This record gives sequence, structure tokens and C-alpha cells, in this order.
Amino acid sequence: MGEFDLIDRYFRRGDPAEGVKLGIGDDGAVLAPAAGHDLVAAIDTLVEGVHFRSGTAPHAVGHKALAVNLSDLAAMGARPRWALLALTLPESDTAWLAEFAGGFFDLAQQHGVTLVGGDTTRGPLTVTVQLLGEALSGQALTRGGARPGDLVFVTGSLGDAALALAGDTSGGAGVDRTLRQRLEYPVPRCRLGQALVGLASAAIDLSDGFVADLGHLLTASGCGARVARAGLPLSNAAQQFAGKEMFWPAVLAGGDDYELCFTVPAKRAGEVDALAQRLDEPITRVGVIESDPGLRLMDEAGRPVAVPAQGYDHFPQ
Ligand code: ADP
Ligand code: MG
Repeated sequence: MGEFDLIDRYFRRGDPAEGVKLGIGDDGAVLAPAAGHDLVAAIDTLVEGVHFRSGTAPHAVGHKALAVNLSDLAAMGARPRWALLALTLPESDTAWLAEFAGGFFDLAQQHGVTLVGGDTTRGPLTVTVQLLGEALSGQALTRGGARPGDLVFVTGSLGDAALALAGDTSGGAGVDRTLRQRLEYPVPRCRLGQALVGLASAAIDLSDGFVADLGHLLTASGCGARVARAGLPLSNAAQQFAGKEMFWPAVLAGGDDYELCFTVPAKRAGEVDALAQRLDEPITRVGVIESDPGLRLMDEAGRPVAVPAQGYDHFPQ
């Protein structure tokens, strides 16, 4: 199958979509963002052997390639709209492509995302998705708005994906299904991210690990935070690992959670509870912003504990 047949067969979906003046098939897509909105753009690459194990189900790869970008737009408070897909494939394997496209489009449909273009090349398996979305003009959430006294929240639970990966790499056949699901099928918090516009003072998504990503938010905001380790949200599956050596490193510094971490002025904390109820999203208050830079992490007895090594760095010094 040639490159153009491949695109036609797996990636061109004919339905006309709002805002798409010209989709797949020309040299570029022509898109019309809604009036009164800013365009928000994110791009992320998944490389086989680096971001996912060789042999990962192609449906999961298609899902995750889009999900990680949806998570970035959620952290910006943006509504996702249009995607571009750059695919580098070692071969044109039709079974792999059909499953991959299934994973990608299942999630795209759930979020009203239209694939408007891409690129297809031969080489080591690499998937890059660029996602474009819209935020109300001047209203996009950023990492930089947290102020001393604001409260720090996280969605969902921490460490599940890292614990799944640790189980995988240690050769353990018995990785819990819910943990593996969290690693392979992250659920981006898109509705919540958009609902935080006008309420959160700062937001970031947790891709590199809680400590590293909260650190990015603190640096951008020019402040610090105090967090009690005992208050961090853990899934039942993760709690089975409590006491193991990799437990706290996974919870604090494991990547791939794709939860949101955000700050809200203390006097508006009630609105966060109301939002969690209304959207039926799990949100946990984990700490408070302070003016002193840096993260102060407290153990169960309220004593400071060393902050674990930072998140994943592709180019460590
Ligand atoms: P060009 O050579 O002008 O860059 P291509 O021949 O690479 O164009 O692609 C032809 C059309 O197919 C373009 O509209 C491009 O955006 C689209 N396209 C290519 N690969 C993909 C893909 N994997 N998914 C979606 N659209 C794609
Ligand atoms: Mg091209």
C-alpha cells in the first residue's frame, strides 16, 4: 500500500467539521477559530522504546498519542478542536494501522477533535500529534499565576502509571489491570480544565511527575509550596505497593499520570468542591502556596522529607 492509499484508508474521515475550511488532502489545512478566542497549540511525540514499550497494543498507542496532547490543552483551559498527525512507520502494517487509527479516532470523537492533516514517513516507529484548540481570548490558564496563600489541588491519583511500568520492567507478569490501564489509556481532564478558567490561578498537567511538574508551576509563579505526603491521592491499586522501595518515588516523581495540578485562591476553595461534585471528577487538596521558593514536602509526622529526584529528562547533563 502506497503512502496516499494509506492516508486515505486510515486517516481521511470525510465528515465535514465545524471550523475546518479545508482538511486532509491539500498542502495545508485551513481552519477558522471562533471569534473571541485565542488559538492554543500543543505538540507531543511518542517514540517506541522511549515512551512506550515495543509491542504495546497499537490501539493504546493511538489513544495515548492524542491523550497526552489533550491533557496539555486541558491544563491550558482550552477546548480541543483540530489535530495533525506525523507518523513514522518501519513498514506499512495494515493490521497495526487499523488498530492505531481506531485508538486515535475513538478518543478524537469523544472530544470533538478533527484530524486535519499530517505527514507519513518511513523510519523507527514514532508518533507526533499536534493539537490545536481554543481558549476565550486572554483567559487561557498558565503555570505562572499562583500566589502565596493559594491552595494546591490535584485530580485523580498519583503514581499508577509509574507503578505499572515498574512492574513491567521488573519482569513481573502480574501488573494490576487498573494500573496498566492508567499507563496505556490515560484519561485527559478536558472538561475540568475548561471549567477551571476564571477559577484557577495556575495549572499544569502531570506528565513528568508530581514533584517536577509542580516545580515548573512554582518556578513560573515565582513562589514555593508546602505539601503533606500523607494527603496525596492514591488509588487502591497503588496502595498495595505502600512500603515497597519504589512506592514514594513512583507517587512523587513517576511520570505519565496526565492528571491536572492547579492552584485556587483560598477564599474560593468551596467552588472547587462544587465543581468536583458537578463534573463528578475526583479532586484532592494537597497543599498551599508560600512565598519562599521551593517545595517543602512533609512526612506523616509533619517532618520535612527530602524531595526526590526530578522528573524524566531526555538530555540529562
Ligand atoms: P505534502 O507533501 O504537501 O506535505 P503529503 O503528501 O505529505 O503533503 O500529504 C498529503 C495530505 O495528506 C496532506 O493534506 C497531509 O496533511 C495529509 N496527511 C499526510 N499524512 C497524514 C497522516 N498520517 N494523517 C493525516 N493526514 C495526513
Ligand atoms: Mg509531507
